[in-house]
Amino acid sequence: MSLNHIELMSDTQTRPTPGMREAISNAEVGDEQSFTDPTVNALVERVAELFGAESAVLLPSGTMCNQISAAVHCGPGDDIIAERSAHIVGVEGGGISVLARAGAYPIDGERGVFTAQQAEAAIRPVRRYAPRSRVISIEQTANLAGGTIWPLETIRAVGEVARRHGLKLHMDGARILNATVATGIAAKDYAKGFDSVWIDLSKGLGCPIGAVLAGSSKFIEQAWQWKQRIGGAMRQAGIIAAAGLYALDHHVERLADDHANAKLLAEKLAPLDGLGVEPEHVDTNIIVIDVSASRADAASWSKKLGEKGVRMAAIGPNSLRALTHLDVTREEVERAADIFKTLATGELAPA
Ligand SMILES: *Cc1c(COP(=O)(O)O)cnc(C)c1O
Repeated sequence: MSLNHIELMSDTQTRPTPGMREAISNAEVGDEQSFTDPTVNALVERVAELFGAESAVLLPSGTMCNQISAAVHCGPGDDIIAERSAHIVGVEGGGISVLARAGAYPIDGERGVFTAQQAEAAIRPVRRYAPRSRVISIEQTANLAGGTIWPLETIRAVGEVARRHGLKLHMDGARILNATVATGIAAKDYAKGFDSVWIDLSKGLGCPIGAVLAGSSKFIEQAWQWKQRIGGAMRQAGIIAAAGLYALDHHVERLADDHANAKLLAEKLAPLDGLGVEPEHVDTNIIVIDVSASRADAASWSKKLGEKGVRMAAIGPNSLRALTHLDVTREEVERAADIFKTLATGELAPA
């Protein structure tokens, strides 16, 4: 489907494909709240299996997956250890301090990934003066850090620290299937030993709405109470689940195309004066572009690019972020690179 601009703002901007719309329209539905919606049941079983988990629950958004997980795992005053750029730390309206009444303990990792040693150092001693360290959360892939893939051995080492200290392990797997497609490592291998893990249906998978949270039967039972409590329980949600099942059948392997397009864009931008791009660190479908050596800040770049038909977000004073997805073609990526070049060698060239 073509738009009249090149949409690199986010992989949330995908529109349902004709095939997905057909699946939605033909969905068999029931009442999700009483577990009688067969399409929802099929989706949650499928995602539980994907993660090697006992159970799963469909939620309206990824944010709700993170928030409910925090609420189940934590009590008031507890700490959630996460990387500083993590969605749960900085992009959810401080929700963990509202619902779970927990705090965030941010770690400065490298491109969104911290080490087991850093995780261990972040765990507070058990004393009445200190918050209780309760959860270690990792983000696969690390979104704002540039779609970085957490290596399996790092995940395992961090997991070992959590186990040794009796902490819960949470994985924000919004884009875990991007990692899986890029590395060939199964989602269940990444998620092994985690107490909670989820995928977003509305990112690269191309669904209009939804996310699925997985864990033990006991965890999902507790998650259901939070889902009910905060108004996340739905009714004929099979129309949402049908899109999810369609995406798992048709939109997973094609994530490799998004990765190739992201790499291509990075390779085309890297040689341009004033733009800091590291193609070797483009692991998946996200590219972070440092414009500090150019004539303009990220907001001005975003505006100028927008005027020329390329939509891209400023995620910091000097950082732009581009995402590829199923509504961006290789030809559009090439055109976006040309537009960048025109600006980088013209009005936004380094002084
Ligand atoms: C998008 C995103 C979320 C939140 O998901 P929503 O479906 O937008 O609520 C959480 N974590 C990461 C890493 C994300 O990219």
